[in-house]
Amino acid sequence: MNNNNEVTLGAPLSGPVLALAQVPDPVFASGTLGEGIAIDPIDNCLVAPCAGEIIHLAHTLHAVTLRADNGAELLMHLGLDTVQLQGQGFTAQVQPGMRVSPGQPLLTFDMDQVAHRCTSLISLIVVTNGEHFCAERLAASHVNAGEPLLRIAARHGHAPRSVQVGEAVQGVAFVAHAGGLHARPAARLREIAKGFDCTAQLSYHGHLADIDSLMSVMALGVDEHAQVQVICRGPQREAALAALLQGLSTPIAGEQPIPVAVASTLSPLPALAAGLLAGICAAPGLASGPLVRLGSITLPADPGGHAPGEQQQALATALAAVTRSLEHTRAKARQRHDSTEEAIFAAHLALLHDPALNQAAEAAITKGSAASHAWSNAIDAQCQLLLDTGKPLLAERTNDLRDLGQQVVRELLGDCGRMPLPRGAIVVAREITPSDLLYLNSQGAAGLCMAAGGATSHVAILARAKALPCLVAMGEALLEQTLDGAVVLDADNGRLELTPDSHRLQQVSDQLAAHHARHQAQQAQAHAPAHTLDGTTIEVAANVAGAQDAALAHQAGADGVGLLRTEFLFADRHVAPDEEQQLAAYQAVLDAMGDNPVIIRTLDVGGDKQLDYLPLPPEANPALGLRGIRMARANPALFDQQLRALLRTRQPHRCRLLLPMVTEVDELLQIRQRLTELAGELGIDSPPQVGVMIEVPAAALLSAQLAEHADFLSIGTNDLSQYTLAMDRDHAGLAARVDALHPAVLALIAQACDGARQHGRWVGVCGALASDPLATPVLIGLGVRELSVSPPQVGEIKARVRSLDLAQCQRLARELLTLPGAGAVRRACEQYWPSAH
Ligand code: PEP
Ligand code: MG
Repeated sequence: MNNNNEVTLGAPLSGPVLALAQVPDPVFASGTLGEGIAIDPIDNCLVAPCAGEIIHLAHTLHAVTLRADNGAELLMHLGLDTVQLQGQGFTAQVQPGMRVSPGQPLLTFDMDQVAHRCTSLISLIVVTNGEHFCAERLAASHVNAGEPLLRIAARHGHAPRSVQVGEAVQGVAFVAHAGGLHARPAARLREIAKGFDCTAQLSYHGHLADIDSLMSVMALGVDEHAQVQVICRGPQREAALAALLQGLSTPIAGEQPIPVAVASTLSPLPALAAGLLAGICAAPGLASGPLVRLGSITLPADPGGHAPGEQQQALATALAAVTRSLEHTRAKARQRHDSTEEAIFAAHLALLHDPALNQAAEAAITKGSAASHAWSNAIDAQCQLLLDTGKPLLAERTNDLRDLGQQVVRELLGDCGRMPLPRGAIVVAREITPSDLLYLNSQGAAGLCMAAGGATSHVAILARAKALPCLVAMGEALLEQTLDGAVVLDADNGRLELTPDSHRLQQVSDQLAAHHARHQAQQAQAHAPAHTLDGTTIEVAANVAGAQDAALAHQAGADGVGLLRTEFLFADRHVAPDEEQQLAAYQAVLDAMGDNPVIIRTLDVGGDKQLDYLPLPPEANPALGLRGIRMARANPALFDQQLRALLRTRQPHRCRLLLPMVTEVDELLQIRQRLTELAGELGIDSPPQVGVMIEVPAAALLSAQLAEHADFLSIGTNDLSQYTLAMDRDHAGLAARVDALHPAVLALIAQACDGARQHGRWVGVCGALASDPLATPVLIGLGVRELSVSPPQVGEIKARVRSLDLAQCQRLARELLTLPGAGAVRRACEQYWPSAH
């Protein structure tokens, strides 16, 4: 290593240059692996960006790491998801330990083969020990190999972390990550370890690696399902060990989980006794109902000779329509904070625009194929490539491809509709696709059976998320069944009972009834107000994202809307809604809620919430930047428009305004004054009540001053936890620790309630803690009188309220504030109020 701390990197490849944030891979794009840059290569040889030593070469040859002479460790990763190719198409030109000079070839690759079989050829160069170095972009939008790309300079005063010594704890885990410990899972482990005060190492086949060093972990070459040992030292060694063992044995969100039993998608299970068909359980549960066969489109033979221009246009139009529909589905999932569904449909969008797929279709169109056949054949060819790998995980991605195939063909044939379905049907198909599943769920299907498919498919993940019992890999015999009469789908036991007698049908229906009894009992009471045992009324409202949710919430018995996140109302739009459109949307929510009050929060963009139609300047620290009410003050015209739309709703007295991210009284006073002025202009003499969100510690600490001027306070426990604990609410490695039941967060909630009480104001909670039944007695005990929960939980939370005694809640909740951490609070809650189970 030399003392010249700065080094200029030449481009390792030629091609368009992309910022990491533009890379369609969440781990790289988020910078988890480190700072860097991406190139979409147009050549097939990766060259050394500077002089240095090769310190790691992936055994799958898709990535190489070079240590530059200034100590910077540079990971060069060819393509996305290329680890799955297991080295096919790559040739190493160097070995670990070799010294290389700038421009020297490191890896060559077969562009066609790799491009056809991976998500994208976009390649990255990332500084993996970025805690010691920073990277500055030098290249514009396109580089040739060897041209200046990045300047890497040492960060000042940043000494490497010293290894702590002391008593060690250790444990073993089986690696659950598809493809083993390659770059992304290794990065995730490092992220987890960073959350604890300790040092952590991984031991595999007699070799030891610091988890801190991505390179060392990757160099271990740990395979999927391999057993590794984790060793932790330091004050938080026990907690770190538990988190790391869990991290190793839990697949990354978006990566496909590996079930205990993965079915081959091609070989069906043997049939059980007559009248029974066996399958692999992809989503548990029990259901009975009529068997309905789901059809798929079969294309007639293509005579060929079509005009390429027209067919290309038709394909482009169909692709655009499917893109819109997928974007819509993804945006809806985002609104519901359903990250699983969002990730699946984001992946579908990426697949739909896969260059290999589109190029294959276009090539066929150029030769005279119809767009429908060209597209369908391109899909089939891609599916075959995946099946040829012989890997079940890759074979299951064919279901996603076929789904896209069908959607585009449906658009091309002008057959957008699908067949209607009797409610409670058990749907049978060779394969059910993710978009089919959403449709079937909306039609009230009771269960799913697939002749093919696997338990790790996206459709299986969705089925679990929607609580739809689902069996897969049932074999072609499934498709030959006569379709009369009710069947029983016992997914827990992996069987479809084709000829259940009336006794069995009765038994199933009794079982289902018993299973739902508690839920139904709660629902039966859900429309009545919730009083504690001593008669204190707790309003149980719902968090909604729009009128449809509000209607569901009303049906579920919600006493009102406790939070309408207006930023999600128009999340899937590219153009800002005007005043009339906003008015219509707010009015629709009010109308859906009967006579109940509706709390409408003013736009809360910024931080983790971005809107296509309102691009915000990039910020170094978006969570601490221009978000919530700060954005409103920076865009007075936009805010006035929203206030006017709110004031113009019919029955504005039922509408309550909620201001996000308030930190001081002035922010509230200014909005109140503006609201009064606008109400005057519109001739409205009783403007709506105005509440303040308590979601930063400053607001909780100033609650008395805020309550003097606000009509109510509503605690946003999601952000309050983030800002109190200084832990990103979306940080995967810290997810288990961003717990709103932390005594420090509870102390702020107590303070907010005390401040509000001084001025006779009520306090609600609209963050996720309100939906946690374990927290209900704590919140009520601290003084909260309104809980805004997710609509399906209204009945459950009301039932919980009815089981509580206020005086006991008050006494015990205050005791919780003295406990040392969130874990202790949770244990105490389970002990004091065990009925949460
Ligand atoms: C919160 O922070 O708890 C809250 C309800 O607001 P959001 O989750 O929309 O930031
Ligand atoms: Mg918030």
